[in-house]
Amino acid sequence: MNKVTVNKKNIYIVNSHNQVLEAWKSGNRLNVFSLDYHTDTRRAFQNYSYWRADSEVKSGLCDNHGLRMKELAEQKISQYLENLITIEQVNDNLKHDEHLDFAVRTEMIDTVFILSSNSNASSSNPNVHIADGQDAYNNHRIIEFSPPCIPGCRKAAHDEECRTMRADYSIEDVVLDDAVSRAESFRAGFFDNYILDIDCDYFNTERSLNPERCETFKKLIRESEFITIALEPECVKICRHEGCRLISEVILAGLISKIEAACR
Ligand SMILES: [Zn+2]
Repeated sequence: MNKVTVNKKNIYIVNSHNQVLEAWKSGNRLNVFSLDYHTDTRRAFQNYSYWRADSEVKSGLCDNHGLRMKELAEQKISQYLENLITIEQVNDNLKHDEHLDFAVRTEMIDTVFILSSNSNASSSNPNVHIADGQDAYNNHRIIEFSPPCIPGCRKAAHDEECRTMRADYSIEDVVLDDAVSRAESFRAGFFDNYILDIDCDYFNTERSLNPERCETFKKLIRESEFITIALEPECVKICRHEGCRLISEVILAGLISKIEAACR
């Protein structure tokens, strides 16, 4: 993890998104407002416990794969809470889409609101609520919000043009104002104490980094306790739209200059 300070704002930069936990653990049970292509809402240690349980079943050490997976994940979480393993050791077994669940289950973070480009119809994680989904909100600690288009589009079915527009408008006021009011509708006071978290793969077109109106983005920067940025260089290349040449370093430079302008 790299720490840089720009006009007094602390920014923690990591390669793999789960490494932001190294910065989040220093906060005082803050909320997280996250911008990401993906929702990153898989259960903590899902990958680790799946394969570990799989090998135990194959070698005859246990016969209930699902139950063993649950036990193994709980075990890791307890080990962290009892200070038997460090956050770096946690990250050795955590994937880059399993950190949100870990953060709320360990009480490191209060509530996470993710504005993502990619939407899920449902989630098997009981801590996750999908805004605009089928189920009612029941104080879930992780909220996914993945609008298919920008507010105000009147098309009956959002199409390819909408997908481009949604990407181009990633940090425009019209998109972020909507997301901010959604977050507040779930948790009043959400923005009293929060971390602004950005995955570089949220930026999928050159236009997305050069908004016309981004006062809300600047406000989100300015009023955050601190900022975490995940470079995720491979995801940036996979998620960017056809013809877009953005890479993590360019996105990071763009973000730093916006932080500089916002905190002047
Ligand atoms: Zn549309």
